[in-house]
Amino acid sequence: CGKGPLLVTKRCASTAKSPAKMMAWQIYQYGGNEELTLSDRARAATIKAPNELLIKVHAASVNPIDVKMRGGYGQKVLNMLRAQQGGLLGSEFPLILGRDFSGVVIETGRAVYGALSAYRQGSHAQFTVASDSEIAKKPQVLSHTEAASIPYVATTSWAALCTIGELSEKNAHKKRVLVQGGSGGIGTFSIQLLKAWGAYVATTCSTDAVDFLRNLGADAVIDYKTTDAKKELSKLPQFDFVFDAVGGPTADDSFDLLKKWTNAKLVTIVHPFLQNTDSFGVVPGMGRAVIALGSNLMKGFSAGRSYRWAIFLPNGKALEKVGRLVQRDLIHPVVEKEFPFSELPAAFQFVEEGHNRGKTVVKMV
Ligand code: NDP
Repeated sequence: CGKGPLLVTKRCASTAKSPAKMMAWQIYQYGGNEELTLSDRARAATIKAPNELLIKVHAASVNPIDVKMRGGYGQKVLNMLRAQQGGLLGSEFPLILGRDFSGVVIETGRAVYGALSAYRQGSHAQFTVASDSEIAKKPQVLSHTEAASIPYVATTSWAALCTIGELSEKNAHKKRVLVQGGSGGIGTFSIQLLKAWGAYVATTCSTDAVDFLRNLGADAVIDYKTTDAKKELSKLPQFDFVFDAVGGPTADDSFDLLKKWTNAKLVTIVHPFLQNTDSFGVVPGMGRAVIALGSNLMKGFSAGRSYRWAIFLPNGKALEKVGRLVQRDLIHPVVEKEFPFSELPAAFQFVEEGHNRGKTVVKMV
């Protein structure tokens, strides 16, 4: 722990009470589900900085990012960040996956929820360490299972809609927003956030999810399985904003659905940024990403629209605001499936199979 302000000393003292070992699901190399190994002797999470807290995890969720990271996604950039943060001693393994958690701060007994930066050891363990900027007070009306379903999709949606897309509760009222990919974790959260802010929300999904998304508040739901979604969407008045959680041709086709010359925006979270850095190295990969984004930006300039990429950013302040909307009954957790901690690989398999309807949560306590 070293020398430091009173706060550090106090927190370091508290870690002395925490066990040296903990239960955790770890991987020792990148690969498939067979790499997930349950250990009861994993090195316990420890606080390394004054702004960090030791948290007993009560529930965590499994996101598509966990499945991708199990296979090595983002490793080049993340190892660079791990080295910068002083947390990488030779190798990233054994690696604990998991971004989302809901739990209790060991030192204070305070119930919190949060989403961990991708370079950190994860939440699929008995204990985790988070910085105070990654967490917020857990909404009291939610169980830990429900709370753990929210942070990663909430902070990613916040990054895309607000930080990159410049939408907010103040300006979203009556804006026409299209959410591409409404039925998954990101879609079910962002539809509710946008409705809470008073936007008009259209969305796309498979046939079985149409009624589910209408009940969640979407104003128009287009079934992309049984109709030509692009054609159906183009019959609707044009949009001020497209939030794309599908990528590929779906993202590209969405561009023409935006109003012209009003700075209407398409923000996608499915882009090749980390994939490029994995394939070509950090600098060349970033170069390719800049070129790909640049060509989309140019397309936008010709019609007064803008095309942007967003990524997950931990954001405790956003989680506080989301927590207030939850307390006011404006946002509800959408937990599709819950698994016990001992069955975490089954949760990974469930998420990996796709067609998710909301979130998959793993219960520790
Ligand atoms: P989920 O797996 O929870 O949901 C994806 C949903 O999209 C599924 O419900 C799927 O259902 C639906 N879907 C698939 N194809 C289409 C389509 N053509 N049109 C409409 N819906 C479709 O994933 P998340 O919601 O958590 O994440 C969405 C995407 O965003 C993922 O690719 C994820 O990796 C990415 N992401 C990126 C982040 C970043 O930092 N850049 C952060 C978070 C997520 P069905 O197949 O049944 O139609």
